[in-house]
Amino acid sequence: MTSYQLFIYLDKETEIVIGKLGTFRFPPGQYVYTGSAKRNIDARIKRHQSNNKKRRWHIDYFLLNPHTQILKVIQSGKSECRLNQLTKGEIIVQRFGASDCKSKCGSHLNYVGEIA
Ligand SMILES: [Zn+2]
Repeated sequence: MTSYQLFIYLDKETEIVIGKLGTFRFPPGQYVYTGSAKRNIDARIKRHQSNNKKRRWHIDYFLLNPHTQILKVIQSGKSECRLNQLTKGEIIVQRFGASDCKSKCGSHLNYVGEIA
């Protein structure tokens, strides 16, 4: 299992529908999304970077909004939840990307704040 993080920038305050979770108002600034792929992590990351996809995961709804852009991607050997819990930030949407989370992360999307 390999995990990864997407560093995402939202350029203005934006209301985004996140599937069945509902509609949320996201403050501008940087977000960190933590995910994992059992195999072919490169294909997963390419998918995140593509705008040509159906909305399947919570993160798809976020990334397909034209005000978001991926700034950076990192990979890690740490478990998804461990990596997520090492990331400081604020939760905007409870359960975002964490439907299967058994480690009480709260959310796998963290709002880091404005970039200075
Ligand atoms: Zn988790």
